[in-house]
Amino acid sequence: MIDLHTHTTASDGTDEPFEMLENARKAGLTMVAMTDHDTTEGWREVRSKRDQIPAGLTIIPGAEVSTRTQLGMSVHIVGLLFDAENIQLAKLLADTRDDRIPRMEKMVEKLQVAGYQVTMEDVEEVKPVGATLGRPHLADALIKNGIVGSRDEAFAELLHNNSEFYVSHWAPSPVEAIKAIAAAGGVSILAHPFAEKRGAVLSFGEVTDLAAAGLNGIERNKRDQDEAAHSKIDQLSSEHNLIKVGSSDYHGSARANQLGEEQTPLDLWENLASKASGDEVFTR
Ligand code: AMP
Ligand code: FE
Ligand code: FE
Ligand code: ZN
Repeated sequence: MIDLHTHTTASDGTDEPFEMLENARKAGLTMVAMTDHDTTEGWREVRSKRDQIPAGLTIIPGAEVSTRTQLGMSVHIVGLLFDAENIQLAKLLADTRDDRIPRMEKMVEKLQVAGYQVTMEDVEEVKPVGATLGRPHLADALIKNGIVGSRDEAFAELLHNNSEFYVSHWAPSPVEAIKAIAAAGGVSILAHPFAEKRGAVLSFGEVTDLAAAGLNGIERNKRDQDEAAHSKIDQLSSEHNLIKVGSSDYHGSARANQLGEEQTPLDLWENLASKASGDEVFTR
């Protein structure tokens, strides 16, 4: 069983990296990608303490790269098996992480102006040390202060992409991210492309541009993509030779998504992995 998209406390997941791996093993996974938002810290820690990796589990190193189109649409690209020491790609991830701090300050200020009691200190308090800062941590601060009951409620009421409190952070374009991942020897997968509940989605023409830039795969089986999304993805996949993957986008207890609830067949994974040269999977 292979799951190509998960999060830990290195970004906005709630499981510590090794806790996520224990849960992956319990769920029956044999391979799991660690794809925290804009960081490689989670799997780096795991790789530095390999004897603690659950027996029988193979780790695929990766990251979910935040990008933004010229029109301002947020697009997530899952990069796998890239060389994390690649200077250009590392800088792109670091620049994105850095700008998430002033961005959060602006969102907090907008909430304060509207009368919500929340501070940057609250956000820092709930954010795991070293984690890529994101809206889910602001949601956790709002929960701590009794303003909302859950991350879902925080996003629905206050933090969604069209909210008056939403502020964007710097991010590369999807084409830049795909090229940087490829230059670092990795493969790239378009994450949840037609999960319309998350906000605006890409047009066919835009996906065509990403394919031309070197996109390798596309997430198909996901809990937030319906039959209509599947048929669009099937068409794009056959037109542009994109490998269709299934994955959970597990975030720990913060979301309903369960490890391995969607999977990628071994032959498709092997096809993807054969295109990568930047890094390798690892085990205990
Ligand atoms: P950010 O990168 O800071 O803009 O935050 C976006 C992240 O928020 C996404 O990657 C998701 O992990 C998370 N997210 C989006 N919508 C929701 C939701 N309804 N409930 C919980 N988390 C969400
Ligand atoms: Fe997330
Ligand atoms: Fe995502
Ligand atoms: Zn994700």
